[in-house]
Amino acid sequence: MDLCSLCEIKLTTENDSREHIIPNSIGGRRKIKGFLCQNCNSTTGAEWDTELSKQLNPLCLIFFIQRERGSPPSQTFKTTEGRSLTLHSKGGMSPAKVSFEEVTVDGKSSIRIFARDIKEAKSILKGVKNKHPTINIEQLVSDLLPTEEYHSGMLEFDLAFGGPKSGKALVKSALCLAHSAGVASSSCEQAIEYLRRDGNPCFGYYNEQDLVENRPLNIPLHCVAIQGDPDSGLLLGYVEYFGIQRMVVCLSENYVGSKISKSYAIDPVKGAELSLNIRIPLNLKDVYAAYNYEKYDPIKMQQCFEAVIPVALAMSETRERDRVISEAVKFAFKNCGANEGDLITDAQYKKLCQLMAEKLAPYLLRHKQP
Ligand SMILES: [Zn+2]
Repeated sequence: MDLCSLCEIKLTTENDSREHIIPNSIGGRRKIKGFLCQNCNSTTGAEWDTELSKQLNPLCLIFFIQRERGSPPSQTFKTTEGRSLTLHSKGGMSPAKVSFEEVTVDGKSSIRIFARDIKEAKSILKGVKNKHPTINIEQLVSDLLPTEEYHSGMLEFDLAFGGPKSGKALVKSALCLAHSAGVASSSCEQAIEYLRRDGNPCFGYYNEQDLVENRPLNIPLHCVAIQGDPDSGLLLGYVEYFGIQRMVVCLSENYVGSKISKSYAIDPVKGAELSLNIRIPLNLKDVYAAYNYEKYDPIKMQQCFEAVIPVALAMSETRERDRVISEAVKFAFKNCGANEGDLITDAQYKKLCQLMAEKLAPYLLRHKQP
């Protein structure tokens, strides 16, 4: 049996664990055994992988990443108009916090409440009663007219990625793949120094050239690759998240095994594995240059982002259309006066159409030509 790659405890059937090569929190699926003990699996998961998935959470949300358990947490973003909106893993957005404003039209004043749902709007109104005891709150509550609206600004995403914890998570992924390909973790001295003993980070951002030779178009893919060459003595790794964040890793500068090249890639949106040819034609000088941010170009990263973002927009549009239609149908049937299972009358049919049109209006208006 192997030793745990991190704490070197002997792995047994009791303490062995299944480690995801790419964390499941960002959509990775494949797991291997005989790499980490349960203790190291859970500590590194909680410390390193959690930080990685936190930094990549905006991308997990916009690509609707599915996890084995749970969903990516909702997250609040600022819009270019200065509002705060919360983006949910099941799609849709809501105001980050409740607020209200008084609107006066033709001398008639009304209150506009921005809330996540009708329940929240009611509790706001009840709060108003404390300040203005003379207001007929019960009447206002019964007069509440809920509407949905789309924000017109753009969400501001922070794609900053890095730091020691995320760095360790990505180096661990490369080490995990090397281990699954039969390379002993103990011979990956650069990775081990960094992961076990807080040595120098053995990774750097790299987008000077595209190392994926057969990159499928418009797929926000994750991949991990390793390449070992005894002639150069280098065992290198390459890790990419969502087709955007791209890093090279140096696992060893003293590699003496046979020539090796392996990769694992996945389309995290569909959960399907991809077969990619990844070549890492770098020497030690290139690797050190990558450590010093000399192989990273923010404009290229922006282009990578723009290449995959249409996928997110198309998915979001389909989900929003399905959600709006389903909500409109539910709302119309609930309020048209017919009971479940009844055949509807002419009057109920008319009411049904009218209610559906009302509910669909904000969505349809959003798609109307200006
Ligand atoms: Zn361990």
